[in-house]
Amino acid sequence: MKIGIDLGGTNLVVALCQENGEIVNKLSVPTKTGDPEGVKADMKMLAKKVCDDRGISYRHVTSIGLGVPGSFVKETCTFEFATNLQMRNVCFSDTFKPDFDVPVYIDNDGNCAALGEALRGAGKGTRNVVMVTLGTGVGGGLVIDGKLYTGSNNIAGEIGHMVIVVGGEQCNCGRRGCLERYCAATAMIRMANEALDGSAEESSLREVREQSGKLTAKDICDARDAGDALSDRIFDKYCDYLACGLANLINILQPDCIVIGGGVSGYGEKLLAPLREKTAAEHFKVGDKVTPIMAATLGNDAGLIGAAMLNR
Ligand SMILES: [Zn+2]
Repeated sequence: MKIGIDLGGTNLVVALCQENGEIVNKLSVPTKTGDPEGVKADMKMLAKKVCDDRGISYRHVTSIGLGVPGSFVKETCTFEFATNLQMRNVCFSDTFKPDFDVPVYIDNDGNCAALGEALRGAGKGTRNVVMVTLGTGVGGGLVIDGKLYTGSNNIAGEIGHMVIVVGGEQCNCGRRGCLERYCAATAMIRMANEALDGSAEESSLREVREQSGKLTAKDICDARDAGDALSDRIFDKYCDYLACGLANLINILQPDCIVIGGGVSGYGEKLLAPLREKTAAEHFKVGDKVTPIMAATLGNDAGLIGAAMLNR
């Protein structure tokens, strides 16, 4: 058995998993942000409880994996920093001793989700998977030959900071034109607001914006579904940017598949169908062999399962 832990800014979730990553028992408590000793105590308490609940001896647990929402040092199993946890430099290597005398692995939550989806979710049965998460930002992870690729300094896979428009929108990372500035949910909203403010074109989004004070990506997708031309144009442009990023990734890595997760992926086939078409038209291929693009299937469990499956 393995234990996977998802240390989030809101909740701390601990799962007991089979060797293949299947979740057997899962428990959570609110995260004690700013209180590293409290977080450690809760982790250990939940790790014991997920086993106790199922009558599993602690001796049958072979590893513990921890997904964190920020930077970390793999070699010392130390969480370094994340703005939403209000903690710095917390080492977890001895947290579970003496009850669990097993290796404790750490990685960031985006990488853990990629590993989970690759091994047990949309990418199950493949070796090479790129996961792209479309949410408030654009995150992701690279699984190569069944293992997470984290590169030097453990910071590979920053898919959101690949520039797709030289001299484009200013990004928080310091560069301009990053994928994140065009393909996060917030980017779709920015583009819609710009289009509304830049013309007097009739659009149902104006009314939505006036009534609720702001727009969401779902508002834009809903308006598009209802036949709004401006929303359709914004969405099409969004897909163009995303397809550019995905084709770049495919040309470099030629993964077996690309898995799309995050809030925007909830739009399902209405996102994936145009995205597949646009991406396939751009990326290198042998004959007519195009790289499959799929929706993530594990939801919030992806990070938990991936954490449990960490092994280096
Ligand atoms: Zn950036």
